[in-house]
Amino acid sequence: MIVAIASGKGGTGKTTVATCLARLLARRLGAVQLLDCDVEAPNCHILLQAQPVPHAEVQLPVPVVDSATCNACGACVEACQMNALAKIRDRVFVAEELCHGCGACSDVCAEGAITERARTIGRIARVVDHGIELIEGRLNVGQPAGAPVIRAVRRTSRESADDRNLTIIDSPPGTSCSMVAAVREVDHLLLVTDPTPFGLHDLKLADQTATELGLSRAVIVNRCDVTGPCHAKDGDLRDYCRRQSLEIVAEIPDRRGIAEAHATGQCLPRLVAELHSRGEGSAENAPGEADDAQKTAIAPLAQAMEAVADWVVGRLQKEPSRWSASSPESEPRP
Ligand code: SF4
Ligand code: SF4
Repeated sequence: MIVAIASGKGGTGKTTVATCLARLLARRLGAVQLLDCDVEAPNCHILLQAQPVPHAEVQLPVPVVDSATCNACGACVEACQMNALAKIRDRVFVAEELCHGCGACSDVCAEGAITERARTIGRIARVVDHGIELIEGRLNVGQPAGAPVIRAVRRTSRESADDRNLTIIDSPPGTSCSMVAAVREVDHLLLVTDPTPFGLHDLKLADQTATELGLSRAVIVNRCDVTGPCHAKDGDLRDYCRRQSLEIVAEIPDRRGIAEAHATGQCLPRLVAELHSRGEGSAENAPGEADDAQKTAIAPLAQAMEAVADWVVGRLQKEPSRWSASSPESEPRP
């Protein structure tokens, strides 16, 4: 089963949820896979305190125009939806940074004047840590298109042979092509939001995108108890979820200690898993680096994550996975 963690905007706590969930479920299930598809800023490895090692480069096929064969008909320029080709007088020029490697230009060239060369745009890295197989995509600096790297992460996921039956995806924020590439054909989408007007607005956008993709959706509310002039009325978010039949799987209270644990370099996923293993978020029993105040602050996060883990395991036991339906052949070019 594939569960994606997404959000309409950045800063909702999506990666914290994804990594804590992976750590909890790795304990329960023995092995899980975590795909870091936030390729412009992959940071699951930081939260997990794991060190991925380079696995593969991600390359795009970009066109090379043979000016001796080209008759300057302009068909390739017409075909390119990315404005990556320009005809100036009798020559065709390629803006490689804009090219998405779709191959449309070479398909329409009747003269056979277009060949392709591979251009490196990112890389895949991988590590196995505490039962989590982390596969990370990273877009090279200056490259505009993250979707091909995300598709490469998901291909690597399918090719990886181990005994896990659950994959968790940390999606990029927003509702762009990158988000769609990350959540496409997943079994469930968990949308992380916060109770602010901005959070609600972008939750609606993400929900609409997921609906267009035909995905099963549910919601996690982070910083659920924050109030003030910059926050939405408590009922707004709940009303929207009720109207859209969106289940709120868990609510994470706002606790300064959670941010402090991040800021002091503690491994939140490990602390959450340890709190759970000592008994349902019992702050007193958590070992490790956190002091008592931090343990108390982290306990509500551990309890909320436990609720999310229960929700995922419940679905894993009840539902057939669409895993095998996502064959590599069903995907478009890189
Ligand atoms: S379609 Fe082929 S022949 Fe026509 S302009 Fe493009 S490269 Fe040249
Ligand atoms: S491969 Fe696609 S995006 Fe790139 S130049 Fe050709 S038509 Fe445009």
